[in-house]
Amino acid sequence: MPILAALVLLMLLAVVFGPQWWVHRVMREHGYERPDFRGTGGELARHLLDEAGLADVKVELTQHGDHYDPDARAVRLLPEHHDGRSVAAVAVAAHEVSHALQHARGEPAFALRCRLAGYVPWIDRIATAVMLLAPVVFIVVKAPLLFALQIVAGILLLAMDIVVHLVTLPVELDASFGKALPVLITGRYLAPADVPGARSVLRAAAWTYVAAALATLLSLARLFRAFRF
Ligand SMILES: [Zn+2]
Repeated sequence: MPILAALVLLMLLAVVFGPQWWVHRVMREHGYERPDFRGTGGELARHLLDEAGLADVKVELTQHGDHYDPDARAVRLLPEHHDGRSVAAVAVAAHEVSHALQHARGEPAFALRCRLAGYVPWIDRIATAVMLLAPVVFIVVKAPLLFALQIVAGILLLAMDIVVHLVTLPVELDASFGKALPVLITGRYLAPADVPGARSVLRAAAWTYVAAALATLLSLARLFRAFRF
């Protein structure tokens, strides 16, 4: 029985951590400096935006993960991608520029993704409140059923995060493979030998949000530990 429990735990950890570990590994694998590249990720992003007639979209540094901010109309890149010359920097820059393109063209899937993404922080907040209040309700009301229902509600709310990101996955795949990869190949921004590496980075970039959402399930594990379930 303990072996079975350990196996289940291992599988759970693989599901929660596996995707994020894979994203990090792919980014690191293709993140080494390439002095032969013509420019940094930030420079390529600027160039691609100008080429697409989006000179008013800014390119900025961030410490909080590569992303495109539709409100500020800004492509934001991590220092290693903004200032780095690597396959990862080039591919990530092209991916984020693709979101600016989806936005500028008013693509409906992108608009839906923005609306859904706005709900995520609220879902997180409500889920955390529900989970934190559960033991209090249990102590005050002494109703195990209500307690169990609250825990289930908290888990379902957190699972909604993942569903939201899965629903928006087509937008991510379009940014990577519908837009960024063809531009990198036809514009000869990458040598043919670097295309497979870029493809891996673009796949990881598309799955980043789902991987991050899965890792938020860890906050659930943290809550369980805090209350010694
Ligand atoms: Zn993206």
